[in-house]
Amino acid sequence: MKEIFLAVVAGCGDVPTYDHYKSDPEFRDLIHEWQSLTGKRAVPMTFGNHSAFKKPQVLGICQPMTPSQFNYIIIKREKWNYLSDIHKWVAVMHEQGHCAYGYGHTDGFMRAYLPPEKEVLKFWDEWTEEYLSGEMGLLTYPKECNYEHLYNK
Ligand SMILES: [Zn+2]
Repeated sequence: MKEIFLAVVAGCGDVPTYDHYKSDPEFRDLIHEWQSLTGKRAVPMTFGNHSAFKKPQVLGICQPMTPSQFNYIIIKREKWNYLSDIHKWVAVMHEQGHCAYGYGHTDGFMRAYLPPEKEVLKFWDEWTEEYLSGEMGLLTYPKECNYEHLYNK
């Protein structure tokens, strides 16, 4: 397991030059909300750059680290600024789903693409329940390094 994590970081990750162990204040309320919902400690979220962001459609990434308590989430500022509150919440659920729960891409909040708002609202309770069950599919580590991205078409 340790080797796999290291391979992923070496192959796909950037070592950030800023303090990524602190969340950006802009995420504070959402993180508090997420923590009260899940009873878990959130992984720090910051704005910044990542090599994954070269793809314009990528909104955010969970960077897995070893040990995993140092996982962190980076969000692309210029995309975030245009998101609705609903999509901001989906993005937090999604990236924390990767980084704090270890979920991979399945459906609901863990879909690789931001679902339309209407759909989020329709399935809100169902998706939340599924998410909180802790029983969504776990991350696997494919050769490509794109498992951790959240796309925003
Ligand atoms: Zn993702």
